[in-house]
Amino acid sequence: MKKSYDVVVVGGGIIGMATAYYLSEQKIDLALVERKYIGSGSTTRCIGGIRQQFSTPAAIRLMKESLRLFSQMEAEFGFSVDFYQGGYLFLAHSQQMVDVFKKNIEVQKKEGVNVSLLMPDDVKGVVPPLNREGLLAAAYCPDDAQAFPFAVLRGYRESIEQRGGRFFTANPVVNLRKNGCFVLELADGTRLEAGKVVLSTGPWTREFALQIGLDLPLYPERHEAVITERIPKLFNPMIVDYRADGCYFNQMVTGQVIGCFTPVPNVPGIREDSSLEFLPQVSFRMGRLLPELKKSSILRHWAGCYTMTPDGNPIVDQSPIDGLYIASGMCGHGFMFGPAIGKNLAHFILHGDWQADFSDFAFHRCFEGSESMK
Ligand SMILES: Cc1cc2nc3c(=O)[nH]c(=O)nc-3n(C[C@H](O)[C@H](O)[C@H](O)COP(=O)(O)OP(=O)(O)OC[C@H]3O[C@@H](n4cnc5c(N)ncnc54)[C@H](O)[C@@H]3O)c2cc1C
Repeated sequence: MKKSYDVVVVGGGIIGMATAYYLSEQKIDLALVERKYIGSGSTTRCIGGIRQQFSTPAAIRLMKESLRLFSQMEAEFGFSVDFYQGGYLFLAHSQQMVDVFKKNIEVQKKEGVNVSLLMPDDVKGVVPPLNREGLLAAAYCPDDAQAFPFAVLRGYRESIEQRGGRFFTANPVVNLRKNGCFVLELADGTRLEAGKVVLSTGPWTREFALQIGLDLPLYPERHEAVITERIPKLFNPMIVDYRADGCYFNQMVTGQVIGCFTPVPNVPGIREDSSLEFLPQVSFRMGRLLPELKKSSILRHWAGCYTMTPDGNPIVDQSPIDGLYIASGMCGHGFMFGPAIGKNLAHFILHGDWQADFSDFAFHRCFEGSESMK
């Protein structure tokens, strides 16, 4: 078995898989190592939302590119990834949030995003059954979308394998060192050598990087999600309620309603255990906005991690260790960022230059400021 590779990607979530997919377009020896099964980290625990409504030009441009790449997946993979442009509707129940939306919409429009500020009467036209009590305005982009994470990962995997990429699954990297080239030791004793290594280990990146002397500002926290039975089509966009007791949810192409909320205070650490308190709270919050949902049954709920950074932007860059790349800290938007990050990072690894402005995601930035559409 071959044990020496040009690039080894560590971590088979959306970021590692997208990076490997675009690397595999070139004739290189490529391997991806995954601790458990592909997608077992945060990626298959996410709810599949894809939006361009961010607050900085860098994030908006990245998302415009990602949206385009998601839209091409069915043609590239030969099967549907349930990509659907039902839009994103952000609700503002306070004047402060209206002002945030107005400011962001200005930036988004400059970047060519089809977004507008809606008054409560206009919102009725977008989601007729929405409870508009207390609603002051909403930010709406009908081109925002959703896709099914499991299908996206399947498409990447099949393509990478067809192009000769090698997978090592259920086999974590337990040791990484640089001795001329990189040496990776896997749990079953396999030893791989690599010219370059990508660390896309999601919530586990901080502890992994510490082993090799890199102290990264990455803070995993638990987020829970819920899914209902299939119901007849009720609404189109992902609905995001930013109130402290708000929530966000979407109706999938297959009819289920999938949703979550950001707990206050947050639940720090790598936590994949779900809580009993979440169920009544999420049911109340979703049912308050769409009373019709109270009639549907919940099928199951689960938990996964957001890997947060101090400024709400990921770290995607070459590290101070030559040939070691970091791609982590995706916060609550790693699924949607995945394709564009993977494409740009693969180009950077192969050619040494960025094709887009990645300075907001640089390793050595000051981490000031904050993404207001987290
Ligand atoms: C409830 C919930 C809802 C979300 N909703 C959305 C959404 O709507 N839209 C969106 O864009 N994002 C969403 N997210 C966020 C999104 O899921 C993450 O940002 C994204 O999945 C991060 O991808 P990743 O590849 O960085 O990490 P992961 O998917 O966690 O992948 C990292 C992988 O590395 C592997 N690994 C770790 N250590 C090792 C090792 N030593 N050796 C080998 N492999 C290793 C892990 O097993 C894991 O599979 C949501 C997250 C949650 C929890």
